[in-house]
Amino acid sequence: MNLILLPCGTSIDSHRIDLGMRELKCECGKTHAIVTDINPLTRFLPEFLVVSLEELIEVRDSDKWGGFGMVHLMGLVMEDFPEETVFFDASEDGYLGYSMLWIFDFDAWRLHEIIIELIIEMMEHGMSHSGDKNAIAEFEKQMLQFDIKEFVKEYRETRDLNPEDYSEGQIEGI
Ligand SMILES: [Zn+2]
Repeated sequence: MNLILLPCGTSIDSHRIDLGMRELKCECGKTHAIVTDINPLTRFLPEFLVVSLEELIEVRDSDKWGGFGMVHLMGLVMEDFPEETVFFDASEDGYLGYSMLWIFDFDAWRLHEIIIELIIEMMEHGMSHSGDKNAIAEFEKQMLQFDIKEFVKEYRETRDLNPEDYSEGQIEGI
């Protein structure tokens, strides 16, 4: 048994977190988002974006991790929300089926919005370094019309999210 101390102060047994879990209804009254390293990026990002991120982002240790993946995405979130994030290394525990686990103080919906914000920032950053003024202007114009909350709502609806569904085998879900 491994106890994980959550950002809210509650401790939970890591074995309570199974592969299908997306959120945890906590004793503290809040719902905490859960991500494991086996979740596909498409849990949060559309396929085309995943592909362009894999192509665009140069990743350190790419041999080890195989390009931009969930580890890097979670790294970005942790950088911005260190106090709200708990990382648990489960690689020694074969029982769990995943080797890395992140639990957040906020729920999966909020996490999704944060991820989209971070990805847009990252793309803007990449754009500004490209030096292509037209492309930058076009991107900024598109971003002005881009509604993160609306995007997340639609994406989650399209992916048939059922926040109550914690059953196993929901790897492809949100
Ligand atoms: Zn809690």
